[in-house]
Amino acid sequence: MILNPIPYGKQHISDEDINEVISTLRSDFLTQGPKVIEFEEAFAKYVGAKYAVAVSNGTAALHMSVLALDLKTGDKVITSPITFVASANCVRYCGGEVLFSDIDKKSFLIDLDKIEDLLLSDSSIKGIIPVDFAGNAVDVERLKQITDKYNCWIIEDACHAPGGFFIDSKGSKQLCGNSNFSDLTIFSFHPVKHIATGEGGMITTNNKALYDKLILLRTHGITKDSSLLNENHGSWYYEMQELGYNHRMPDILCALGISQLKRASASLEKRKVIAKNYDIAFANNPNVKTPKYFEGHAFHLYIIEVKNRLGLYNYLKSKNIFTQIHYIPVHTMPYYKKLGHKVGDYPVAEEYYSNCLSIPIYPTLTYEEQMFVIEQIEQYYAKI
Ligand SMILES: *Cc1c(COP(=O)(O)O)cnc(C)c1O
Repeated sequence: MILNPIPYGKQHISDEDINEVISTLRSDFLTQGPKVIEFEEAFAKYVGAKYAVAVSNGTAALHMSVLALDLKTGDKVITSPITFVASANCVRYCGGEVLFSDIDKKSFLIDLDKIEDLLLSDSSIKGIIPVDFAGNAVDVERLKQITDKYNCWIIEDACHAPGGFFIDSKGSKQLCGNSNFSDLTIFSFHPVKHIATGEGGMITTNNKALYDKLILLRTHGITKDSSLLNENHGSWYYEMQELGYNHRMPDILCALGISQLKRASASLEKRKVIAKNYDIAFANNPNVKTPKYFEGHAFHLYIIEVKNRLGLYNYLKSKNIFTQIHYIPVHTMPYYKKLGHKVGDYPVAEEYYSNCLSIPIYPTLTYEEQMFVIEQIEQYYAKI
């Protein structure tokens, strides 16, 4: 019997992580110091992008990305109904309208076959926010071939997929966040994600103009860069050139991020092993449908589709196993219903929601714990 609670996801903080944070606490900079730049450079390298901008969390990363792309009131943006609400909310922050588009039954990603019809139907669509859901990378090469015809930008929400990739039409690996096809890619460092800093986020891009704009927006729209100033009264002088925010990530958390990033590849390997064990355990179980994934999956979540989901969820909870549902379709949230969206709009997403269950997957999940989870799922179905 395993007594410790087993959540669906969990951070891992090592002694080295703690020491890195302590040494930053003892340094001259708690924020706006060298650890920010060091984390940005290391992260950009990890995902294969030119530029990275560290921000206060994934939601701020989405908000700033939409701002940087100059969304105007009334402009429309497409996203998936199966995502965390922040992927849609960022559009609302900027006065835009959210359009959802249904998911693909097998991958649970936004269905690329449906995107072109939507773009054809409405010329006020300015962008799309695809989500690398559960760790499955969106084929942004194919998406860009579609969106380019309609002058539409792409912000890839890769919160679930640092270290993930897809294989492009030439057979090459395209890492999530390398932004070869997306204008901007965003990440979160919330404790349930691959890299945990408490709160934290990152935007990656290869576009220098967007990068410069994000740097400005992150700190109130203020610059001290003498090459950008309209006037110069002395070395204290700065200008506020845009309406920006304080969306900075402090050095304390960037130090933690740098340390966590060093283990990111090893952690991803552990996630793969856990996923493989589940695949094998449930291969012949008629009550449990295992997920389909493409090469390059980052295994943020391991989602099974099951019968009697509520019963199983409650049974596992009684055994101290805390599964989760990712996600309640965003268009069915009361806020989005008030804006005119309704149940029934995206049947594939809604059908998926009625059966999905995210079971524990995180690098420190032990073999014994995982076997306990598998055993309990099997026992539940043996009993009913
Ligand atoms: C976690 C998450 C976010 C938001 O990130 P925060 O850091 O919690 O603000 C956005 N999109 C997706 C898909 C996420 O999983």
